[in-house]
Order: sequence, then structure tokens, then C-alpha cells
Amino acid sequence: MFSHGRRLTLQAARHMGSAAKLQGKVAVVTASTDGIGFAIARRLAQDGAKVVISSRKEDNVNKAVETLTKEGLTVTGVPCHVGDADQRKNLLKTAVDKFGGLDILVSNAAVNPSATQVLDTPEKAWDKIFEINVKSAFMLTQEAVPLLEKRGQGNIVYISSIAAYQAMPLLGAYSVSKTALLGLTRAAALQLAASKIRVNCVAPGIIKTKFSQLLWEDDGVNDAILQTTPLGRLGAPEDIAGAVSFLVSDDAAYVTGETLPVAGGYFCKL
Ligand code: NAP
Repeated sequence: MFSHGRRLTLQAARHMGSAAKLQGKVAVVTASTDGIGFAIARRLAQDGAKVVISSRKEDNVNKAVETLTKEGLTVTGVPCHVGDADQRKNLLKTAVDKFGGLDILVSNAAVNPSATQVLDTPEKAWDKIFEINVKSAFMLTQEAVPLLEKRGQGNIVYISSIAAYQAMPLLGAYSVSKTALLGLTRAAALQLAASKIRVNCVAPGIIKTKFSQLLWEDDGVNDAILQTTPLGRLGAPEDIAGAVSFLVSDDAAYVTGETLPVAGGYFCKL
């Protein structure tokens, strides 16, 4: 039995631990100047991590870094188009140069240049979707692993979509690319477990960002989504950020190779 004083000390330690559960960690989040990526970067930094912000446009990077710095968070930023090998290299180098290494990679960037059913996708659009949504996640993983291994452990999270499980009519090729990330999660988790690197994935439902604006701006589509979403609301970027923060923390120390749908019950899995 612990004495009263000892119990209080333990409780305080636990509380402090949860207030800064990612203290000492360094995270890179791609496509993190807006929407879901920005919320993830903010949340990981609030949880104590030092975070490298990035996206294609330098102005967006500067604005995001300024906003989070003003909130007292430890962040830096560098432009990175995830389809560009040199820029990806520079992104990871920034984590090492500015913060001394890498513990967490969140691969969040995606595009959807083709609003068609899957078999109507032009070849160029198919290639672009797979280059950004799948290949860049794979390449970043390959490039990040030596840095994570240097730390003796690490975490990788891919941002997929609920469309990975059930293709959405006008998001055909995009849906297939998101299913591919589920496979990459399992395969990479299997290979990296021995290096104590956990690999997990989050599958957001409809989250209110610019990316999904066409859906939620249309009253008819919005109502249809709400009717099939048991929790009765669209998701917020912070809903995804909370899930990522959990997966990269020690609270999920025994979780790898999994995809966590965060979708208000929309298309919920058995
Ligand atoms: P968003 O609000 O439109 O934000 C997009 C971000 O990506 C911006 O910071 C943008 O900045 C950056 N970006 C775009 N292309 C990039 C590239 N090639 N390389 C690097 N950065 C790039 O999008 P979001 O809704 O947050 O989506 C984020 C992720 O969630 C995506 O993987 C998406 O598939 C997934 N998702 C979203 C929803 C949803 O309903 N919103 C649902 C399921 C899954 P720059 O313009 O400066 O590059």
C-alpha cells in the first residue's frame, strides 16, 4: 500500500505525464499548414513534441509557423511538395538540423484531381493520385526509417480515409489509393516491429476542411452525410488530431499495423 503522500506524488506524475505525453519527441507532419495536418501539428506540439510544419507553399508554411509559435508551441517549418525527392530530403533534414532527430512521421498529404468513378479516371490523374497519396507515403517511410532507428524506436501514421473501405462514387481512384495505405500500414508495421517502430493509420470520415468543401457546402449532400453518420455531425480536424496523438503516444504502445476509423460511425466496421 502507498502512503497518502506517495499516492499524491504518483497522481501528479501521471497528470504531468499526460499533459506532456510527447515531451522530448520530434515530429514531422506533411501537408500541415491547413485542415487536418495543421490540427495534427498543433496537437502534437501541445502534447510536448517539437514539430516540423510543411506544405508546398512557403507563405502557408510561414503563416502556420507564426500562428503556432504565438501559441507558445515549439515548431519550425519548411516548404515540401511530397512528390519532390529533394524537398522530402530537406524536410527530414530540417527535423535533424533544428530539433536533433526524428521520432514521429505523420504522412498526411493527398490529392484528388479527378472527380470521376474509378474506371473513368484519366491515366494522368491516376498516376498523380498514386504518386502523391501512396508513393510519397512509401518514400517518406523509407527515408525516415534510418532516423527513427537511430532513436531506438519511433512512430509512423498514415492518413487514409473512410473511402478506403467503401469507394465513394466520384472519388473512385482516390478511394483505391486510400485502400492501398491500409496495405502499406500492415506491411510496414510487420517489417518495422523489430526496430520498435509502430506503424498505424487513421481513416477520417467527412471532416470539415477545404478538401471536402464541395460535399458539405451542398445542402443535399450535407444532409445525406449527416443522416448516415450516427454521431450526427461532420468531423472536425481536431477529431483526427486526437486519434493521431493517441496512436503515437505510449498509450498505444501495444498497437501497430492498425487503421482507426474516425468517422462518427459512418460506415463503421464490424
Ligand atoms: P486541406 O484542408 O485541403 O489541406 C490540404 C493541405 O495539404 C494544405 O496544407 C496544403 O498546403 C497541403 N498540400 C496539398 N498538396 C500537397 C503536396 N503535394 N505536398 C505537400 N502538401 C500539400 O485537406 P484535409 O482535408 O486536411 O486533408 C488532409 C488529409 O486528410 C488528406 O490525406 C485527405 O485525403 C485526408 N482526408 C480528408 C477528409 C476530409 O473530409 N477532409 C476525409 C478523409 C481523408 P499547400 O497548398 O501549401 O501545399
